[in-house]
Amino acid sequence: MKMKPQAYQAHRVHPFAPVAPRTCTLPQRIVVAKARQLPDALLFDCDGVLVDTERDGHRISFNEAFKQKGLDHEWDVDLYGELLEIGGGKERMTKYFNDHPDREPFRSTQDPAARKALVAELHALKTALFTQLVESGAMPLRPGVARLVGEAISAGVPVAVCSTSNEKAVSSIVRVMLGPQVAEVMRVFAGDIVPKKKPDPAIYLLAARELGVDPARCVVVEDSGIGLKAAKAAGMTCIVTKSSYTAGEDFSAADAVFPSLGEDSDPDRVTLDRLCQLLEQAQANALA
Ligand SMILES: [Mg+2]
Repeated sequence: MKMKPQAYQAHRVHPFAPVAPRTCTLPQRIVVAKARQLPDALLFDCDGVLVDTERDGHRISFNEAFKQKGLDHEWDVDLYGELLEIGGGKERMTKYFNDHPDREPFRSTQDPAARKALVAELHALKTALFTQLVESGAMPLRPGVARLVGEAISAGVPVAVCSTSNEKAVSSIVRVMLGPQVAEVMRVFAGDIVPKKKPDPAIYLLAARELGVDPARCVVVEDSGIGLKAAKAAGMTCIVTKSSYTAGEDFSAADAVFPSLGEDSDPDRVTLDRLCQLLEQAQANALA
């Protein structure tokens, strides 16, 4: 972290600093909170932020479903990126099989209703495999997620996940990948809990309301243009960690953009201190 020594001192109390004299009128805890301007809450998107869900989860599950059904198809990272242009798993498979009529399963299945049933069956298998994959813990967390979540919890900053994906999957990812202790304190706002999906700000505004915090003092971590729009429409500070299939999107409205949150050894890793600075900057800009 590139900070001037003086500024650094202003932002945190050195762990070996002498104990404050008894004459100190303010409890040290309050002085620290004021100096660091901690966010009221740190809110994470799930897919693409906690885990690279499309690349490491859905893609893998589609491939496993093909394999189990004896189909000779494997969607690599680049091909899957192209297929993501088609929304919906069933629609994605249908388009791909239509593009390969000389190969199974569509080669020997011509009837439209039979093709539809076949795709539905494959999709049900893929969904079950995805659930298994999540529960197994084999889908890796993105770099720095566990570290930053831990930093926030240690500092007393409420953490939550805000996603309009399936609630069960999101809760499983938090429980399996971040562990039961984190899952106990990390609220999950997901699924059909709000009437409108991102880019509508509903999910973020709901989280702020439920946590009893000011949206303007929340920091969001997103990976997509749609998620960024939702966070910004909620009046929140938002950083972007680019994920495999969102890297080319427009993030000009973000308060900062990073390739990832960064491993522990990365000197450019995103720390809670860095988020504090970004929040302060965003608030100063709002007042200017
Ligand atoms: Mg996302």
